[in-house]
Amino acid sequence: MAQTRNKFDFEDLLDKHHLKKTSPRLRVLSMMASKSTATSQPDLESVMNDIDRVTLYRILNAFEEKGIIHKVFDLNGTANYAMCSSNCGEHHHHDEHLHFNCTVCKNVYCLDDLHLPPVSLPEGFKTEGFTLYANGTCPKCTKKAAAKSA
Ligand SMILES: [Zn+2]
Ligand SMILES: [Zn+2]
Ligand SMILES: [Zn+2]
Repeated sequence: MAQTRNKFDFEDLLDKHHLKKTSPRLRVLSMMASKSTATSQPDLESVMNDIDRVTLYRILNAFEEKGIIHKVFDLNGTANYAMCSSNCGEHHHHDEHLHFNCTVCKNVYCLDDLHLPPVSLPEGFKTEGFTLYANGTCPKCTKKAAAKSA
């Protein structure tokens, strides 16, 4: 399945959110945008071992706050991050799409085209956002399993 994503100009993106264009920030962005699945902090740490944990943590926090990335959880309960669509803003996320947890490779996919239908909550509940999760096997793992059994 081909994931279509807007091609971000990362420097412009940081400018737009009044974030300094530091090399760690740009590297985190380009890595996250290049993946079709969400990325956890340990994933980033293993690739960018020259950036310390605290810096990474702060980068992820700032990006989430600005509406650049959003948080999703994998099946182990680990926080993963994925790029937001361009209509997210500061303290204002619109990532009400389906999140698919693969039970085989443990990757989390953002299925941006699958949106939640409008939900009206019972009185007294005030929502700050919805997240919908699905579990199952992703296309890659389904293919692998099919090849094995053939
Ligand atoms: Zn968002
Ligand atoms: Zn998978
Ligand atoms: Zn998502």
